[in-house]
Amino acid sequence: MKHCPKCRSEYRDGFQTCSDCGSPLVGKLPDVPGETVPEAELVPVFDPPDPLIGQSLAALLEDNGIKCVLKSEQIPAYADVAMMLRPRWGRLLVLEGDRARAEDLIKKYLSAPAQEEQEGEK
Ligand SMILES: [Zn+2]
Repeated sequence: MKHCPKCRSEYRDGFQTCSDCGSPLVGKLPDVPGETVPEAELVPVFDPPDPLIGQSLAALLEDNGIKCVLKSEQIPAYADVAMMLRPRWGRLLVLEGDRARAEDLIKKYLSAPAQEEQEGEK
């Protein structure tokens, strides 16, 4: 089995180049760089209603060593329309194994009284 390093398509042995992009085929694909979280193992833990909450929660999870992916479901050009059609802004996904911990952290974060950052304002 040969693979195209660009499209990641599989080819039978005997092919030398990718029929889609013309790249020389390789016997084995290089491993995907470590930072990429395989989509199949991700589970949604929260649907942030807006990007600010989504980003705060993503930062919170990462501070706790939980890998997460923040996905916007809005199409930038139609954000205003999309906001009216969808009650949520996007999704926060984590790896299956981190789910319980992530949900716990999010629950604590959301139930904590809002703390305004007002340093130097007095
Ligand atoms: Zn290709």
